[in-house]
Formats: sequence, structure tokens, C-alpha cells
Amino acid sequence: MSTTQPRAARNTTTRDRHRAQIRRAKPPCGICGADIDYGLPHLDPGAFVVDHIVPLAKGGADTLENKQAAHRLCNRVKSDKTDESGLVTIRVFVTDRCWW
Ligand SMILES: [Zn+2]
Repeated sequence: MSTTQPRAARNTTTRDRHRAQIRRAKPPCGICGADIDYGLPHLDPGAFVVDHIVPLAKGGADTLENKQAAHRLCNRVKSDKTDESGLVTIRVFVTDRCWW
């Protein structure tokens, strides 16, 4: 029995594959340029997250070319700076310094 699932815009299978590909290459943070400790727990501010170079909200593609590795906190600071949707109102301390 085959279920015909609607092809959702958010394809988690592709996402997982991209995440795994990036993680395997262990690149430095695309935002601050410092190394990422890929062994950190997911919720650690310095943990690896996938950052969209052009945010999806701004028409960025969900492709590997539009993705880079970033620290969790760098990613949050970036989205805080670039997100104009007004949905994210949490203010993160923004600084030019990188403390990793
Ligand atoms: Zn960073």
C-alpha cells in the first residue's frame, strides 16, 4: 500500500542528508569563522547548527549550496539581525566579538 504524501516544502529527509553532509566535512562556522566542536550537545550555544546563507524567509533555497555550518548562538544572532518578519522578538546580546 503506497501512500501519496504531498510533497511538502519542508523536506526533512533532504535536510537530514544535508546536515549529515555538512557535519561530515566539519567546516568552521560560516558566520564567525571559528572552529565548531561537533561533539557538543545540541542545545549548547557553541553547538553545530545548519545555517541558511540566504534565509528561507527571504526566498533562500533549501539546497546544500545555500547552507553552511554555524554555531547555534551565531545563527541566532544572525537571524535576530536579518529577520524582518517581526516574529522573532527575542533579543540576543549582539556583539562583534566572538568568544570562541
Ligand atoms: Zn560562530
